[in-house]
Amino acid sequence: MKDSKALRHDWTKEELLAIYNKPLLELVYEAATVHRQWHNPEEVQISTLLSVKTGGCPEDCSYCGQAARYHTDIKVQALLPTETVLAHAQKAKDSGSSRFCMAAAWREVRDNRDFDRIIEMVQGVNEMGLEVCCTLGMLTEDQANRLQEAGLYAYNHNLDTSEEFYDEIISTRKFDNRLATINNVRKAGITVCSGGIIGLGEKDADRISMLRTLANMEKHPESVPINALARVAGTPLADLPKVDVWDMVRMIATARIVLPSSMVRLSAGRIEMTEVEQGWCFMAGANSIFTGERQTLLVTPNPGVDEDMQMLKNLGLKPMELKKERLCSTNG
Ligand code: SF4
Repeated sequence: MKDSKALRHDWTKEELLAIYNKPLLELVYEAATVHRQWHNPEEVQISTLLSVKTGGCPEDCSYCGQAARYHTDIKVQALLPTETVLAHAQKAKDSGSSRFCMAAAWREVRDNRDFDRIIEMVQGVNEMGLEVCCTLGMLTEDQANRLQEAGLYAYNHNLDTSEEFYDEIISTRKFDNRLATINNVRKAGITVCSGGIIGLGEKDADRISMLRTLANMEKHPESVPINALARVAGTPLADLPKVDVWDMVRMIATARIVLPSSMVRLSAGRIEMTEVEQGWCFMAGANSIFTGERQTLLVTPNPGVDEDMQMLKNLGLKPMELKKERLCSTNG
């Protein structure tokens, strides 16, 4: 294994595949070593995610219960009032979260009163001293600048899957649209949160290709969520098999090795994992989780904050304190 804290941006598919396919314990050992070179392995960033506008989305992401075209049990909810969102943020802070993420099921941001309200929410959460993150769909450069001026710290925009497999999962936008929004976020000086989902029916080559796109970006995303498909009844992917935990561990370990300075976030799918399985993911280099009230991760089940705090304690881990400069200074 190469030592040194140099970031690479020139990974080949062959190199990535060789890492991903290492004997599992070797892979986890290497990832755990890289993790220790770049991060405090005792710390896990706790992020809280709140859906501020739910369902009714015009996009056709085939894994998502919020797409208006699928018949799911998800209740449509208009944009929440600012005060409600700020009350949730305060509660998240009081429970130990250092990052508060607000998600709206939109195809793209429109320059209207709803966006003005999002700006107010960003300002309010930022004033509480939390890292504030949004995921609102596609963004123009001007909109990204407005969010940055309001104090937005991070913008989530997942690649979801590989460029090659993208059209199988979503037809209402292109992979390049994702890259364009990420670019607008970067230009505005907002940190990037971007990862993907496994278990969509993709091949190992697609997982590798997605990680390669992230790892070969000029600047690595500061956060990289790795999600296991949360199978939502009524969506086209509802009947796919559950993701094998070792696939999650491999994916997280590979992400940790090729994106060493990034926070690797164990995201959707945790509800289907035991504490032991999640422990493997932390050993493989995951150092961030989403937790939340109402035990939901957007619209799919997620462990609650008390359960998560107990798990961290059992594993000898602790919530990361808020250190905004840290992510900026370690990324290259
Ligand atoms: S993933 Fe986002 S963009 Fe896609 S359907 Fe769901 S809410 Fe809409």
